[in-house]
Amino acid sequence: MELKELYQEIILDHGKNPRNFGKCKNFTNDAKGHNPLCGDKVHIYTQLDSDKKILDISFEGEGCAISLASASILTDILKGKDLNVAKNIIDNFLNLIKERKLITVNSLNDIQKTTLMSLSGVKDFPMRVKCATMAWHTLSSVLENKNEN
Ligand code: ZN
Repeated sequence: MELKELYQEIILDHGKNPRNFGKCKNFTNDAKGHNPLCGDKVHIYTQLDSDKKILDISFEGEGCAISLASASILTDILKGKDLNVAKNIIDNFLNLIKERKLITVNSLNDIQKTTLMSLSGVKDFPMRVKCATMAWHTLSSVLENKNEN
């Protein structure tokens, strides 16, 4: 199977069967994101453990397949991660989408890296970049504002 086909399959799978969909129990922080260009909406819920770890993460949303797949992939990969690791993964992912930087975070296994890479093709479609990054920017704002909630 070509890499491109594998990537498409991963996106389709996450778009059709989003992981961690709905409000997670006992969420402590949340934030909403909106992409007016495409009409995508996302609401991210996290349960943070004393500012150190993402114990649980989930999302609700509607929009195109890319936005749903991206939010699903985000929750799948970041659940259980320490906050500093999560921030590295978010930065790394945004650089991947915007500048095609490789995924270099050590704490990810090959399957997780491939899953993140599946969205890298959107760089060729500027209109879709916001669809792919919306959930990640939203989570970023959850993590940055967590002390003010
Ligand atoms: Zn979209």
